[in-house]
Amino acid sequence: MQILDGRKIANDIKDEIAGVVSTLRSNNKKAPHLAAILVGDDGASETYINAKVKACERVGFRSTLIRLKEDVSEDKLIDHIRNINLDSDIDGLIVQLPLPGHIDEIKVKQAIIPSKDVDGFHPENVGKMALNLPTYLPATPAGILELLTRYNIDISGKHCVVIGRSHIVGSPISILLARNSSPGNATVTLTHSRTKNLKEITNKADILIVALGKSSFVTSDMVKKGVCIIDVGISRIKSSKTKSGWKLLGDVDFESVKEKASFITPVPGGVGPMTIAMLLKNTLISSLK
Ligand code: NAP
Repeated sequence: MQILDGRKIANDIKDEIAGVVSTLRSNNKKAPHLAAILVGDDGASETYINAKVKACERVGFRSTLIRLKEDVSEDKLIDHIRNINLDSDIDGLIVQLPLPGHIDEIKVKQAIIPSKDVDGFHPENVGKMALNLPTYLPATPAGILELLTRYNIDISGKHCVVIGRSHIVGSPISILLARNSSPGNATVTLTHSRTKNLKEITNKADILIVALGKSSFVTSDMVKKGVCIIDVGISRIKSSKTKSGWKLLGDVDFESVKEKASFITPVPGGVGPMTIAMLLKNTLISSLK
């Protein structure tokens, strides 16, 4: 079994991006600038946004973090987005999800101008992705493809099973895996909470992508020997053994499947760092336009 080391590959990508930024700077060009909006003070969102800001520093990007109170109105949030849309100094904008219940996520995604939508969530960019046109690919699915590519795992003609059909992971990765392009050309089965006989389906997967948000859900009896497993799930579980008071678990029971899998991503250190690296890549692309 080989670990797909997302942390290492993400660091390689960050080094590549830092090299491009350094060349830009030595040619008196401005460094890419990412703006992020965080609503409320949810602990997990705070961790993710801080990691994104830190990653910007690491590669030489500028970043602006706008913090808004939990009870900010939808209109006020959209005003901030419109201001950033018009700010020619800012190349990319992300709004950390999830948002509080009184704010319509779809409206917020649609308010971001597609040319700065480096998360790739705007319907225009999702449509372009589905049509195989150039666009910002959503960061987590793009990170999965990049990881498979850099480990030379060919997906063409393979049976890929995806668990979970969210708009940010499961649905877009299914589209990307099945596209007539490289990487792509996989045969894809997309499963969700209404899927019958899930175990029968996952047992036929050459590549299994798991994104449902239930810790240790996938066990050894659900996978065939030689499978490549991409564990997207991140659950924060209370723990008395760590300094922070919690630990991260994936959707896959790593210990139980590790003898059967040929490749597997760890949690943490697998898909998570790749997501951030691809967000940086999208921001760089935006700044070069
Ligand atoms: P989500 O919006 O929470 O949706 C979960 C999906 O799983 C839904 O499609 C749901 O089906 C499906 N599901 C739930 N129970 C199931 C079951 N028993 N069998 C089969 N499918 C089931 O998903 P998400 O936002 O993609 O998040 C999934 C996990 O990935 C979370 O742990 C999240 O924290 C993590 N995540 C990690 C990264 C990263 O960078 N590593 C990025 C994004 C998300 P229905 O549609 O039928 O309800």
